Amino acid sequence: MTAISRIEIPIPFPIKSVNCYFIEDSIPTLIDAGFCSAEGLDAVEPALKKAGYRLSDIKRILLTHGHLDHVGLAGKIAAISGAEAFIHPLDRDKCIWDIRENQEKRMAPFLRFFKEAGLPDAVIRDISHRMSDRFDRFFPGDFDVKYITGHETFFFDDFTLKVICCPGHTPGSVCFFDRKNGRLFSGDHLLQNITSNPVVDVESQDKNNGYRSLSSYLKSLEMIAAMEVKEVLPGHGAPFSNSRERVAEIIGHHRIRRQEVLDAFSDRGEMTLFMVSQKLFPKVRGWDIFLGLSETHGHLEVLKDECLISSLKVGDQRFYRLSY
Ligand SMILES: [Zn+2]
Ligand SMILES: [Zn+2]
Repeated sequence: MTAISRIEIPIPFPIKSVNCYFIEDSIPTLIDAGFCSAEGLDAVEPALKKAGYRLSDIKRILLTHGHLDHVGLAGKIAAISGAEAFIHPLDRDKCIWDIRENQEKRMAPFLRFFKEAGLPDAVIRDISHRMSDRFDRFFPGDFDVKYITGHETFFFDDFTLKVICCPGHTPGSVCFFDRKNGRLFSGDHLLQNITSNPVVDVESQDKNNGYRSLSSYLKSLEMIAAMEVKEVLPGHGAPFSNSRERVAEIIGHHRIRRQEVLDAFSDRGEMTLFMVSQKLFPKVRGWDIFLGLSETHGHLEVLKDECLISSLKVGDQRFYRLSY
């Protein structure tokens, strides 16, 4: 049976570590590529050595999504080994870009989103500063990728991995499913101890292309629950087996959150996204403000689609109110 090693890589965020998986095969493959730092490389190299491989042996890198803790070392490893890296096109630009490129262009859709959300200028300045810092310190830079769109099957010596599109956490999130052994590489779509954030996609907001992070995420979860999954190999934390129970828990969490969003309007007429988010997550600070906005925004979009909430843009800001 093919050996698969989970390589846990430290990251300087509250979540503390991210997984990548090394599949020993005649095409040595990584699922995700950890975090772009010296410590990241220091974690990957000895894990490969233990299995009798070197970085230069990697021939294929399959990326579950475009967040920097998962794409991280893909460019560096590809440069060393000539490996082909695969990602969904909708996530290509999330962190694979030349950091010498104009950062203002990258920041613009976020700034429009923060303005529309009604964030005070001081908070916008703080979050923008944190984002620029992330761009400078952690982004992997530009490198060549090939695209996966959901119809592909990757072949290994004794199993196959089918690409399953699971939009929601990001528009281009995918899982890789080994049907023969019931193994699912879930990226950040399904985690055991963390409720994945259906992160607002500010570029989609700008383009008004109809993408809804939360409703996509819930649909993708239901799709996974319908599959015969025996073991989940997640992007963070240890593998687990109770995928259907975990999906039910997450859907339950969002059902409660939906009611909390509606209740937030009980003593207020109109509120900005930031005001609603502050009611739900009064203690969040720094980068977590963005994650709180994301989750709240996801629910407001769903409630708008259900005609329970309406919104109106006044100047730069958008105001939400109950429609009943
Ligand atoms: Zn992620
Ligand atoms: Zn992650």
